[in-house]
Amino acid sequence: MADLIKRHNGIGMTSQRTRSRMVERLREQGIRDEEVLQAMNSVPRHIFVDEALASRAYDDVSLPIGFGQTISNPKIVARMLELLNSGGKLAKVLEIGTGCGYQAAVLSKVAKEVYSVERIAPLLSKARNSLKELRIHNVKLRHADGNLGSKDGAPFDGIVMAAAATHVPKALLDQLAIGGRMVLPLGGQEQRLCLIERDSRGFSETIMDEVKFVPLLPGTN
Ligand code: SAH
Repeated sequence: MADLIKRHNGIGMTSQRTRSRMVERLREQGIRDEEVLQAMNSVPRHIFVDEALASRAYDDVSLPIGFGQTISNPKIVARMLELLNSGGKLAKVLEIGTGCGYQAAVLSKVAKEVYSVERIAPLLSKARNSLKELRIHNVKLRHADGNLGSKDGAPFDGIVMAAAATHVPKALLDQLAIGGRMVLPLGGQEQRLCLIERDSRGFSETIMDEVKFVPLLPGTN
């Protein structure tokens, strides 16, 4: 029990103070959405990475999570969720690429209901354990190919993709609600963050910051 408390509250490099400092840096870097900042202040990021990397969990870096995948750096998580959240209160959100589950945990504080899809089964089960440990119950995890989105739960008023595609998967456009927004990295070697908005007349696309994500791969593993 004492161990569990220590792991959650953290000590030294994994403490609430370290987390608050991360949030201060995010503010300095231009993140303005208080809901996202509060969520990132409350989710212990070190729970989602290997214990050997826990002391670096709050640094401005992406970190390996196994299977050749990475947890995105805090700035990019904040930026993507800020963009997603700027269209009004989020009810139902779909995340493609659960990875270690960190972004899903942050999303769970911002949206009412989160669906998250991951193609690598062992990563998904690790994510499931971490979310359970944090008593987060409004995230539904699915082992599936995110190229197909998630029929279960569709349509979504927000879709966020944590892996880069060369084009927007059609299923995701279909599963975006009218009035909804999708945030995703698009490209191959060179990638840009993209915001897609849907209204009753169709879709519009805004191209933004240069980014670097792992590729969206086909099928499950
Ligand atoms: N949001 C994650 C970031 C994980 S990195 C986090 O907070 O840790 C991107 C993830 O996308 C990887 O876990 C990778 O396996 C997954 N991915 C890549 N292609 C996918 C696909 N077609 N369907 C679902 N997940 C996919």
